[in-house]
Amino acid sequence: MYTDLTGKVAIVTGASKGIGAEIAERFGREGVNVVVNYNSDKDGADRVVANIIAAGSKAVAVQGDMSREESAQLLLDAAITHFGQLDIMVNNAGMEVPAPSHEMTLDNWQRIIDVNLTGYFLGARAALKYFVDNGIKGNIINLSSVHEQIPWPTFAHYAASKGGIKLLNQTLALEYAPLGIRVNAIGPGAINTPINKEKMNDPEKKAALEKIIPMGYAGEPDVVSNAAAWLASEQSSYVTGITLFVDGGMTLYPAFMNGNG
Ligand code: NAD
Repeated sequence: MYTDLTGKVAIVTGASKGIGAEIAERFGREGVNVVVNYNSDKDGADRVVANIIAAGSKAVAVQGDMSREESAQLLLDAAITHFGQLDIMVNNAGMEVPAPSHEMTLDNWQRIIDVNLTGYFLGARAALKYFVDNGIKGNIINLSSVHEQIPWPTFAHYAASKGGIKLLNQTLALEYAPLGIRVNAIGPGAINTPINKEKMNDPEKKAALEKIIPMGYAGEPDVVSNAAAWLASEQSSYVTGITLFVDGGMTLYPAFMNGNG
């Protein structure tokens, strides 16, 4: 538990399932009031809201496609209307639609960049403006990926979006550090969420995935929410501009295990 989080207010984008839902619910257990954003899965968002309320905090579900310019402001307005303030912005909404790069349509490329990268800029921009205007030492957490560092064939748009998040994250951290606003990223490896469902349900694909994780298994979503709670708390008060990899060692060049190379 991070007692300094009690009474804080957070927005978590794409929080109807997966990592976003886990972060929103963990925040709820830490005493944080949460705006739970969803794009299409209202039932999922309602379940997350109910779990947060059951844990003793407040929550509200707000629809918004995070690639659209107006959505971030809508979420900020909801945070202020329902809970009076904003302290923590978590940019999490993301998607992946693999395709060989020579056959990738412009629509596919553009959608991933719009949601995964432009959406994060828009979320950060709305939160930063509010923090600056109100003199709040707020906190921004961006869900990046090991693929801000590891190239990923057939996921060129996804890897480009995550590489973009890396420098967006570092640039915003540098720009707003003098105001005490912290901006950090989390770089998950393979986490057991709906985005990986097909891989995790196929024994061959699962085994191939586990082979490139030095710790030998995919993480559950709580390994990521543990990192988010720490980054949101005062326990990380002197940390800004990092990507905290939560990846069982995936970024450590597993091909070199056992003295290979
Ligand atoms: P997920 O598919 O389970 O959840 C993604 C969420 O984002 C869903 O709720 C989805 O509805 C929402 N979303 C998608 N497009 C949206 C939009 N336009 N507006 C609002 N919401 C939208 O995926 P996840 O595994 O929970 O991933 C969460 C984040 O973590 C993503 O940014 C992803 O790239 C990143 N990540 C995940 C893994 C992993 O292994 N699961 C690894 C590295 C990074």
